Amino acid sequence: MSAAIEQSEFPGHEKYRHLFTPLDLGFTKLKNRAIMGSMHTGLEESPDGFERMAAYFAERAAGGVGMIITGGISPNEEGGLVFRDENGAAVFAASKLSTDEEAAGHKLITDAVHTADPDVKICMQILHMGPLAMNDGLVAPSAVKSRINKFAPNELDAEGIEKQINDHVNCARLAKKAGYDGVEIIGSAGYLISTFLVEKTNRRTDEYGGSYENRMRFALEVVRRCRAEVGDDFIIIFRIAGMDMLEGGMSWDEVALLSRELEKAGASIISTHFTWHEASVPTIATMVPRAAFTSVTARVRGEVSIPVITSNRINMPQVAEDVLIRGDADLVSMARPMLADSQFMNKAAQNRADEINTCIACNQACLDHTFSGKTTSCLVNPRACHETLLKYEPTDNPKKIAVIGAGPAGLAYATVAAERGHNVSLYDAAAEIGGQFNLAKLVPGKEEFYETLRYYNRMIEKFDINLHLNTVVDVDMLAESDVDHIVIATGISPRTPDLEGIDHPSVIGYIDALRGNKPVGSKVAIMGAGGIGFDVADFISHDGPSGAEDVEVFAREWGIDFENHPRGGVTGIEPEVASAPREIFLMQRKETAVGKGLGKTTGWTHRLTLARRGVKMMNSIDYLKIDDRGLHFLRDNKPECLDVDTIIVCAGQEPLRALYDAALTRDLPVDLIGGAFEAAELDAKAAIYQASHMAAAI
Ligand code: FAD
Ligand code: NAP
Ligand code: SF4
Repeated sequence: MSAAIEQSEFPGHEKYRHLFTPLDLGFTKLKNRAIMGSMHTGLEESPDGFERMAAYFAERAAGGVGMIITGGISPNEEGGLVFRDENGAAVFAASKLSTDEEAAGHKLITDAVHTADPDVKICMQILHMGPLAMNDGLVAPSAVKSRINKFAPNELDAEGIEKQINDHVNCARLAKKAGYDGVEIIGSAGYLISTFLVEKTNRRTDEYGGSYENRMRFALEVVRRCRAEVGDDFIIIFRIAGMDMLEGGMSWDEVALLSRELEKAGASIISTHFTWHEASVPTIATMVPRAAFTSVTARVRGEVSIPVITSNRINMPQVAEDVLIRGDADLVSMARPMLADSQFMNKAAQNRADEINTCIACNQACLDHTFSGKTTSCLVNPRACHETLLKYEPTDNPKKIAVIGAGPAGLAYATVAAERGHNVSLYDAAAEIGGQFNLAKLVPGKEEFYETLRYYNRMIEKFDINLHLNTVVDVDMLAESDVDHIVIATGISPRTPDLEGIDHPSVIGYIDALRGNKPVGSKVAIMGAGGIGFDVADFISHDGPSGAEDVEVFAREWGIDFENHPRGGVTGIEPEVASAPREIFLMQRKETAVGKGLGKTTGWTHRLTLARRGVKMMNSIDYLKIDDRGLHFLRDNKPECLDVDTIIVCAGQEPLRALYDAALTRDLPVDLIGGAFEAAELDAKAAIYQASHMAAAI
């Protein structure tokens, strides 16, 4: 076991004594226990990426985190992202570090971080994607194609294996030369090193395949030779899959043995990861309970005497502190929370945790962007990875501004404008701020939305915004006010389809269904299968406590056995899903698969959850009418009728623009934002993004 956490010095708040206790690695010291985990941002491949990454990481270093891990950088071309032009030539291979020239770019990052705070450490992640690489020369221990990659890998021969190990060593050497304090070598997630460890991707019969000792050899050689190259005063973190969530994945004994051997090979720190990208278990989405996996880290910690990092859904200082108090880990990695709020640790140190803009684990602007080839950002903080482009600078021309509507758009506008020094009044017809977020937070698995509302309430207080709730604003009020500028953020009204019988007593809107204003029967049709249709289906099919708030329920629902740790944590375990006694039909007119438009990295979790609860998905529906017999429609040109007792309308939104139009007729100085500006495809990410940009410019 690692040495007990020193209780002597902690340059933070007493409340988070463990989180702010430094960690002595012998040759260097981490100033606290918080690590910004590795995230690919897309800047790695962009032409001005190093300048932007320097600003992005420096802001986090100044924000108080103890150590930063960069996004993954490949040790060679075959292990990474290589974009090709129309002639097949490699372009923008910046996500690779194999030459002195490439090391020079990284120096911008390390200098910026060490200038921001010389005590903050920064390690570069070495990520060889192996069979997940996106190029046409990818390699793996065996020619086993991943189901999530369109390219099949080439099997490495003995010479190829030597090259891959040496390329890791060269990359670590160059990282040291570029000024990094260490490297993190990723040995999980289905990338190259992990595919040597697992039998189903390693079918070799030479010294790198067969027995587990042989399958571990590649990982251990990489660490051993990197250590020999970089010397003793350089951090080497090795990221293992503490639980890989794969049928037939690694057993607990294999994880434990690997951890012990990595220590002997020269790793300074072990970091626990909990998945392969191929796994069918959500490990970071919003329906995952906070700190759900730290018990696995605790077991790893029991095997070694070097420090161990835990991660996943640790998004507030108290959650991190509790993990450390329990002794589950020596260090806590928070990746997305550092996107959401660069000042996370400073706020914790000053006992201002209520000012933290909390990561709600939606993945909408981070991972969904990464996997769509867009620059990473954050739904609640559009400045993330855009620090040089979006700045909230103090105004030298303070204005009196009225913002009408305190949904996400109005809240973002009001708080950014007020932070910049404008005098802001914020109005809402409702008794609480939040707009549609007050509906979203009712959906099981979306409890984190409460945190965003807590954050905005605190910002309203902090920046002296004059808040007027229970106030329906009309155009006369606007005309009579003495403000310099008006911002209309009145949101949307739910669309009512033009359909015979739509006013039948069996038809209710999603707001009434979610708020419980009207009863929902036992046989239900949901008209519309967008984000809200899915959320409503989840809400009415759900039974018992929310898995997002109870690790045991979550583990049962997704078939994980934390206690016995069978292979991968999941082998042989059937998910047990509790569902409400209701027959539910989720319907859409489009021919595409139901749920196709949901988030790229989270859509599958919603589709799978509803399918396991028996919700029937129906596409290509042509609605005809509603009457006492039920919902009539055509499918494949054949008439059908569902004898449902409730029909919930989730048919999209129309912008609520009457106040804006009236203000224009009076020539008032007015802007329009959020759902009122554009209701189609409008989500909170777009609303906050647009509002923040406009408020930064006024
Ligand atoms: P709104 O949130 O509609 O806010 C408008 C506000 O204006 C309201 O509070 C209203 O009371 C007020 N108002 C209107 N007229 C007046 C007036 N005359 N005077 C005073 N006040 C007035 N988006 C995501 O990105 N991710 C999600 O996971 C997600 N989940 C959702 C789940 C549900 C169940 C719902 C319903 C929505 C979800 N959304 C989600 C969508 C997201 O909430 C909306 O896109 C977002 O709220 C739109 O923001 P807005 O500020 O433009 O409008
Ligand atoms: P949406 O995603 O646009 O879905 C609207 C649904 O209504 C579609 O299934 C559409 O499909 C159907 N529809 C449209 N017009 C119709 C009509 N006249 N009659 C019958 N059906 C009709 O909108 P939403 O579900 O209202 O969500 C609003 C916003 O909130 C969206 O931007 C969404 O992304 C966001 N949101 C996101 C999440 C999330 O988890 N990320 C969750 C909830 C909401 P057909 O036309 O094929 O029938
Ligand atoms: Fe967290 Fe969502 Fe922001 Fe990603 S986009 S960092 S998941 S709040």
